[in-house]
Amino acid sequence: MTTKLNQELQTEVAKRRTFAIISHPDAGKTTLTEKLLLFGGAIRLAGSVKARKASKHATSDWMEIEKQRGISVTSSVMQFDYEGHRINILDTPGHQDFSEDTYRTLTAADSAVMLIDSAKGVEAQTKKLFQVCRKRGIPIFTFINKMDREGQSPYDLLEELEQVLGIRSYPMNWPIGSGRDFRGVYDREKTRLELFKGEEHTHISVRDVSGPEDPLVKEIAGEFLHQKLCEDLELLDVAGDPFDMEKVLNGELTPVFFGSGINNFGVQTFLDNFLELAPIPEPRNSTSGSIEPTEENFSGFVFKIQANMNPAHRDRIAFLRIVSGKFERGMSVRHVRAGKEIKLAQPQQFLAQDRDIVDTAYPGDIIGLFDPGIFRIGDSLSQKGDIMFDELPTFSPELFSKVTVKNALKHKQYQKGIDQLTEEGTVQVFTTIGFEDTILGVVGQLQFEVLEYRMKAEYGVDIQLQRMSFQFARWIVGDNIDAGKFRINSQLVKDKKGNFVALFENEYALRTAMDKLPDVKFLETAP
Ligand code: GDP
Repeated sequence: MTTKLNQELQTEVAKRRTFAIISHPDAGKTTLTEKLLLFGGAIRLAGSVKARKASKHATSDWMEIEKQRGISVTSSVMQFDYEGHRINILDTPGHQDFSEDTYRTLTAADSAVMLIDSAKGVEAQTKKLFQVCRKRGIPIFTFINKMDREGQSPYDLLEELEQVLGIRSYPMNWPIGSGRDFRGVYDREKTRLELFKGEEHTHISVRDVSGPEDPLVKEIAGEFLHQKLCEDLELLDVAGDPFDMEKVLNGELTPVFFGSGINNFGVQTFLDNFLELAPIPEPRNSTSGSIEPTEENFSGFVFKIQANMNPAHRDRIAFLRIVSGKFERGMSVRHVRAGKEIKLAQPQQFLAQDRDIVDTAYPGDIIGLFDPGIFRIGDSLSQKGDIMFDELPTFSPELFSKVTVKNALKHKQYQKGIDQLTEEGTVQVFTTIGFEDTILGVVGQLQFEVLEYRMKAEYGVDIQLQRMSFQFARWIVGDNIDAGKFRINSQLVKDKKGNFVALFENEYALRTAMDKLPDVKFLETAP
């Protein structure tokens, strides 16, 4: 029997799309996000997304570093409505504030939008984020940006997707010229032209045509570009991959769109297609099997913890992705790891800078919970039963420092600070074998500076960080693991849970160790 709640859940789930934009800094993510929000009529947010870069934490006291550098350390969640849909965009911070959080945010998304600068192609950070999405097997939609600038040929860009990322592509539209000669795009499915006017587009300007050979196409494109378009499209039809929805949903084929974010060109077409093709909130694995979003009991997991967004409080905010059921303010749920009931009294929803108290929320939505120190990354909340969602992955850090406390008398506060701050999940702790020295590992340099600053500001402890020359970590699984095998340009340590981890200075050291220990597994994420 379908209950009223079940019907409500079905409707709400069908409306929702939750995704992250993955890109390298400067590809135009802020600009694209701003345009997307504008379509939702979320005008009051549009400016603030941009302003965020400079003043996001103007009110946050411990984020002095961030203010000085004019960058944001934390990622946020934005929600808007468009054409009957409710859209949640998870922001993935870039620049120096790239951190493990950025990776982990992707675990809360059902799909990803990969934004690529047409001149620069696939860049380092995009590659890293892509690999995380690939592992999860989520659908990836590609937007090739800055077509108003001279860029690489569209064929080269698609080739790069395949060579560098190993993903096949299906161009949904195809550019006519680029840079100064950019005329617009040809929509392969709708057989129409979307015209580029060289300025910010307030609405889409389209011309229906009978096909690429249509005289109107020639008139608009000019002889040279028209001929090129016809040849390109023919080649795509003959040699390109066919569109295959199943492959799209498995993340094996990426639909590609060309456009220019800053001119608002191609953005709406992208959004419309994305909403049609992107998956609705997905079920998640747990100790009680797969949990469907329409399951009536509320459940969710914490994927990120952020300290002190409100300077008046020292508490933290835990970001929870709702997996199933309906969230209602004030409801009591089970904190499964802690084994106790808690009341969700002051949950917040995030709209760029503005935070609103949320009364109801549904699967796919992200809510922020006040955290007086009770949550950890990966914690599950459940209305009924001890459901525990799959553990979130731990990613290999790339920068390492040995940490010591300057004043030995403060050892207790030091330990408390390290324990609490590393629980937020942007810094990993390792212990050396024998000497019990503490080594910290991060994905982005800024995390070290933030930790140093917060240890002083929140725990009154001066720490000393001594950079080590290791570049990556591998979790080591096997029998008879011996520290002696990791002496040259490497070191064996343990993580917080007691797993063996080997740190390596370079690829060569890693490969040598792998050759020497053929029976041992070298994992990039914690087992
Ligand atoms: P983010 O670092 O990825 O968030 O990138 P931004 O949105 O801040 O954009 C980086 C730079 O690229 C800014 O100077 C933007 O004005 C510019 N930009 C963004 N989209 C486009 C575009 O479609 N065409 C051109 N020419 N520039 C763009």
